[in-house]
Amino acid sequence: MHNPFENALSQLNRANAVKSFSPEFLERMSKPEREIRITIPVQMDNGSMKFFEGYRVEHNSARGPYKGGIRFHQDTDIFEVKALAFWMALKCAVANIPMGGGKGGVTVDPKTLSKTELEKLSRGWARMMARNIGPEIDVPAPDVNTTPEIMTWMNDEYMKITGEKTGATFTGKPLENGGSEGRGAATGLGGVYTFNVLHKKLNLPESCTVVVQGFGNVGGNAAEILAKQGHKIIAISDSKGAILKEDGIDIAALNEYKKANRQIEGFPGSKTITNAELLVLECDVLIPAALENQITEANAKDIKAKFILELANGPTTPEADDILYSRGIPVVPDILANSGGVTVSTFEWEQNLKGEHWTEEEVNAKLKKIMEEETNLIYDRSVELNTDIRRSAFIVALERIEKATK
Ligand code: NAD
Repeated sequence: MHNPFENALSQLNRANAVKSFSPEFLERMSKPEREIRITIPVQMDNGSMKFFEGYRVEHNSARGPYKGGIRFHQDTDIFEVKALAFWMALKCAVANIPMGGGKGGVTVDPKTLSKTELEKLSRGWARMMARNIGPEIDVPAPDVNTTPEIMTWMNDEYMKITGEKTGATFTGKPLENGGSEGRGAATGLGGVYTFNVLHKKLNLPESCTVVVQGFGNVGGNAAEILAKQGHKIIAISDSKGAILKEDGIDIAALNEYKKANRQIEGFPGSKTITNAELLVLECDVLIPAALENQITEANAKDIKAKFILELANGPTTPEADDILYSRGIPVVPDILANSGGVTVSTFEWEQNLKGEHWTEEEVNAKLKKIMEEETNLIYDRSVELNTDIRRSAFIVALERIEKATK
């Protein structure tokens, strides 16, 4: 099993091999500024007490307050959170927003909790982290299995404890609780803006066949937007299974189907396949939008996609990166492709601090400008440095963080 933090450090060293940074700066970047571990007591509905392990890793604050989501997942541990915090520091620098990097989590399968238990756990996380977060210190947001409602509970708990009034400590809140227009779809939409720039540069077919792993916030939104642009989503998966429909999946209909059946398998006209089969399907574009370590040395040689857009964090291991690069398959790295989420989260923070509310058009226009500028810059730099897009994105981010550190 790959340790995601080791993957992250390996990516750092690989970027340094293309453009070298000072040993002191590399050491600074390879260690989080702060690692917090907590035990959250929750009284369960049956009266018993359970104790959940929670985390916050604050990786780097040279460019601004720590920023990053909170993940609720049974496999989440400190190594995963450390890797995600590191990637957030780079991602915020790639998007050129005034934020550092952090990440949080709880080891829990939220599907095993009632709504009351989930609320107690969420409030417990915010209560125990209250001293370490805040609009000018550390600004958390949603990630896998954490929702706008969870952000509201956490923000409410934090504001009650501290008296903070702007509501800018947590982002990804619902609109009625200070959320930003456009935040829900921002990661998927930002990924599509990046895709559109490279679609032209790399001469991909006018209408592409697309395979998406993960039918959650990110994968679902990206699939829907790409389908609206005339691309064909031929396969999609969630944690329970995967479906293939070569004449194209109607994403709105699949959403309805999943709501009614709590699964995507059995969607009319589709064939059930495994998640492993999905990753190696013949297609133009493969979008991993679920979890880490999905494309590894074990399956990279079998990937048939012409182009990979990483909307999940850390889906490709460094060994797989080498195989894909040697096979001429461009991989748009997570820290660029999914940076739309943290960008609009930062817009939310800014609106809360200023007491403003921007329209969806304003938000999306600002997001589009950032995604297009940074994608062009990072892609052109990869050509100039004769390296892959991940190393190029790392180099751009590291240069910006190094400047701020100095
Ligand atoms: P989500 O919880 O809304 O969705 C995750 C999806 O992945 C679900 O459909 C789930 O069923 C599926 N999944 C889980 N395990 C799977 C597996 N083994 N195979 C196939 N599918 C599986 O989470 P999300 O917010 O969409 O996040 C997805 C990824 O995007 C994560 O890596 C996250 O860190 C990253 N990300 C999210 C945001 C954001 O704004 N939400 C921003 C940047 C990056």
